[in-house]
Amino acid sequence: MQVLETIQAFKEARRAVTGTLGLAPTMGYLHEGHLELVRRARAENDAVAVSIFVNPTQFGPNEDFTRYPRDPERDLQLLSDAGTDLVFLPTPDNMYPPGFNTWVDVQGVTERLEGAHRPGHFRGVATVVAKLFNIVEPTRAYFGQKDAQQVVVIRKMVEDLCMNLDIVVCPTVREADGLAKSSRNVYLQGEERLAAVYLSRSLQLAEKLWSEGETSADRIRARMTHLLHEVPLLRIDYVSLADPRTLEEVSEARAGVVISLAAQVGRTRLIDNCVLGA
Ligand code: AMP
Repeated sequence: MQVLETIQAFKEARRAVTGTLGLAPTMGYLHEGHLELVRRARAENDAVAVSIFVNPTQFGPNEDFTRYPRDPERDLQLLSDAGTDLVFLPTPDNMYPPGFNTWVDVQGVTERLEGAHRPGHFRGVATVVAKLFNIVEPTRAYFGQKDAQQVVVIRKMVEDLCMNLDIVVCPTVREADGLAKSSRNVYLQGEERLAAVYLSRSLQLAEKLWSEGETSADRIRARMTHLLHEVPLLRIDYVSLADPRTLEEVSEARAGVVISLAAQVGRTRLIDNCVLGA
């Protein structure tokens, strides 16, 4: 496994790769969710690249950029064990040198949900992912369904800018009790960890109601909200039932609808989602 710390060094290593290349972009502090992307990339490509970059431009001024968990040594061991060929580990200065002044702004689908609660977040995401695609030149890039809106935004960017690669989406990996795996789960201690499981519980409730015949998005949202309100440590940002392509709210719950939610558990902000009938 080669670890490349600059854009130039990575591009040089990339030139030696023959055949297809799969890329899994990450912010590090890896867990099973990330490793599933790597394994899928390994299975579907001749070579696998993983980027580890805590991207400053996708964090708001009051968000957790400086305290975001980092453990590059452990990450590199996990990636080596998973059969990664190339790791791209740039510094913020390398990715955003003085004078950097070009941004990718996907309109529409970024205005709702996470975009509404985290202004500028998806501009940072789309910009860094576009840069990563240009540097790595992957045949396929692997993303997690855990970040459902991110997938919609990246797909739209790839389509609108005619980018020459395939986007592959992998299912959300969960803890035994249902909590979606996340690097940020390390922030959750004691009562907060117990409260956090209610995000996935509310999604399970929605799926159960829908499977029993409930089709009113309002009623499903109300039942989810009611359940979440029982947990004093949770503060809901949103509960959404949306069209999978446009992310506009729907009134009828039907197969394919994305149910997503975000909540604050103490100082930690968590997101989760499910797709009806998936
Ligand atoms: P992050 O390091 O949080 O930016 O995530 C990097 C990639 O891993 C993104 O495509 C995420 O959607 C994906 N990912 C994160 N957590 C999970 C999970 N629990 N299951 C599946 N994919 C995940």
